[in-house]
Parts: sequence; C-alpha cells; structure tokens
Amino acid sequence: MNAVVSEIPGEAAASAERLKITEIFLSLQGEAREAGWPTVFVRLTGCPLRCQYCDTAYAFHGGEWWTIDAILAEVARQGVRHVCVTGGEPLSQKRCIQLLQKLCDAGHAVSLETSGAIDIAEVDPRVSRVLDIKTPGSLEVHRNLWSNVALLTPHDQVKFVICSREDYDWAKAIVAEHRLAGICDVLFSPSYAQVTPRELADWIVADRLPVRFQMQLHKLLWNDERGR
Ligand code: SF4
Repeated sequence: MNAVVSEIPGEAAASAERLKITEIFLSLQGEAREAGWPTVFVRLTGCPLRCQYCDTAYAFHGGEWWTIDAILAEVARQGVRHVCVTGGEPLSQKRCIQLLQKLCDAGHAVSLETSGAIDIAEVDPRVSRVLDIKTPGSLEVHRNLWSNVALLTPHDQVKFVICSREDYDWAKAIVAEHRLAGICDVLFSPSYAQVTPRELADWIVADRLPVRFQMQLHKLLWNDERGR
C-alpha cells in the first residue's frame, strides 16, 4: 500500500483529516445486501472490542495515515460504484464520519460495517449501516449499544454471528423483542467452525424466522485470503 500522507510541514488542514488505514483493496462484497458486487474495501485500523471469532485482528494495530482526499482518490482509481468502509471498528476513528459523507458526495453506494458498540447517529443517512448485534457467544455482548436500534431505517441491516444453539435462541428473542424484521433486513451468519451452515439454515427454516441466512462469499471463493 502506498503511504500517501503529505510530508510538507504546515499542511494543518490535511493532517486534521487523516485516518489510520490498514488496507484499501478491490474485491467482491462477500456478505449482506450488497453481496456479489465488485466493491472497494476501506479497512480502518483499530477496534475496542475483542470478539472471540474475529478474523481481522490484523487491523487492531499498525496501519498508515492517509488523508481523506488520498483515500477518495484511491477509491476513485479503482473505478467501481460500491464502497464498504470496514475495520476493525471504523467508527472508533471520529473522522470516519467525514469520510463516509465525502464518499457519498462522490456518488458512491456506501456501506459501513460497524460493531454496534459505538453511536451511529452521526453517520450520513445515505450510508447503508450494517450493524452487528453481538451475541453472548462473541464474548462481547455487554458492548451492545442498544440505543442504536432506535436509529435503524430500512436502508440499514442488522447482523448476528451465531456461535451456538444458545446464541441462535438468544438472537431469535432479540429479533422479536425489538421487532427488528419490521425495520430492516436481519442477517444471521454461522460462526466459522462453531456452527455449521447447514445447522443454522435448518434452524431458520424450522422456525420460519424472518431473517436472511448468509455465508461469507469471499471465504468460499478465496478462503479468507487477506486483501481478497
Ligand atoms: S468488532 Fe469486528 S473487528 Fe472488532 S473484534 Fe469484533 S469482529 Fe473483530
């Protein structure tokens, strides 16, 4: 990845608009409503959570500073409409709000993958927010910021990663309690090596649950190779 932060002293405005980036790459969107679209992924560095199944721990630390203008230029260079801002937890960097707005202004179809632990109120309404609700099996259930649920619109999506039958029953109860299926798409994913896709699919069908089963397309295609 190119380091793109200006070395010129005195560029206060530019440095004020920097974000720490782990990687920017072109791939297929592997999940959620936008699955299958060629998409540019902007992976921001850092996350305050530690889900036991996390597959992007390499984004917890390190990264390089990019100006927002440089990120926009790199995204434009990739030449596709769909952009996914992800992490880590992208909202743990406050200037992510600005980046999302500018990506929308540039005409992109923008989605945001967020842990559900940080307030989403300031996210541009043009962004499709994919909000995790952490189950007990994630070991981060206490981090759910429940006030986010009241902010969801049909443009958003809610995602549960299911680690066990107990997680499934818990998630089913949460979907009913908050009437989530009446607000936006609700996605259930099996946690890799903890619940088989077949098990989860069978549970959903047996219960006629108003949720969308999903598997991570990029893992099927590229075995979760980094940058794909
Ligand atoms: S919120 Fe996402 S990036 Fe952070 S630890 Fe959990 S799975 Fe990993």
